[in-house]
Amino acid sequence: MALGTMPTRPALLVRIRDVDGCLGWGEVWANFPPRANLHKAHIIEDVVAPQLRGARFVEPREIGDFLCNQLSVYFLHVGQLEVFSHILAGIDTALWDLALRKAGRSFAEFMELSETSAQSYATSINADDLERLIPHHASLGQTHFKLKIGFAEHGNREIVERAARLCPVGSRILVDSNQSWTLATARDELRNLEDLSPFFAEEPLPANASLADWEELASSTDIPLAGGENIYGIENFCAMANVGLRILQPDVAKWGGVTGALDLARAMPQGACLWPHFMGTAVGQVAALSITAVLAGTSSCEVDVNENALRTDLCGDIITVRNGRVDLPSDPGLVVPPVPDLLAAFADGRDSGPMAEALQSGIS
Ligand SMILES: [Mg+2]
Repeated sequence: MALGTMPTRPALLVRIRDVDGCLGWGEVWANFPPRANLHKAHIIEDVVAPQLRGARFVEPREIGDFLCNQLSVYFLHVGQLEVFSHILAGIDTALWDLALRKAGRSFAEFMELSETSAQSYATSINADDLERLIPHHASLGQTHFKLKIGFAEHGNREIVERAARLCPVGSRILVDSNQSWTLATARDELRNLEDLSPFFAEEPLPANASLADWEELASSTDIPLAGGENIYGIENFCAMANVGLRILQPDVAKWGGVTGALDLARAMPQGACLWPHFMGTAVGQVAALSITAVLAGTSSCEVDVNENALRTDLCGDIITVRNGRVDLPSDPGLVVPPVPDLLAAFADGRDSGPMAEALQSGIS
């Protein structure tokens, strides 16, 4: 990835248990740094879980509001408001899962979806892997392929041209430069890609670049701009959309959970669309796909092309792409719980440590 090497694949799941023993699973973003999962697991155990014991709710947002009331100033004080957002997002997903399982309904049933699969696209394709991965994922019906660009050693235009030659007729290239450009660089690089017609350019600027910079970039290029994995709050998403961000990409494990993404879809201005960001385990991946399924023809959810047993094995073989789509679970709940043996295997060496304790903590 563009922020450095990724020597391990940390992940953090939260499991919430109600008084009847019904369980809900969610995912808290923790891709990096390497022990981000442990840091956030400690915070959940020490600070957040005690607030949840005995809590009651009808809708998951009630618990999110309650925790914000109780803990926002605490996390402001310790300088970790975004970490708090990650934790709240995972808890929201777990509460959706818990509530649906308790009600005996799948997400698709609850939302009365006529189509119970979600459109997906192939993401995180490295320059060295184009020849291996694009034909394979095209054979699974993928028609949109997102490339990591922004690396001087490869040359951005060269990567896009190579990828375009490998793609089936009618498919589209998407590019992601992971916040690595200045306004001047972004303008030049996108101008240099324009005739190749990328479907969108993701994070061409840092998420905290000024709205004026985003507006200037959006007006300087025909390539639609995308972003959202580092944007927090509906107001900020809408402000970005109002200056030209066309594709909003909330991450269900970083901000808002399922509730926030659905709220954003209702609040975003006309002309914007919502394509969930995701890079993690099957738990969060299914939650992200579920958002796309609700938005039907206007959304597509990213599915990583790189090997990751947390996505492909942990919850069983459930992230299967066929005709470019992934089926949502049909059993009660939002997500599919991890396979116990695999969960234990992935928590290897930490079965009495904070990771395992986080996995086992719950409301009761
Ligand atoms: Mg990205």
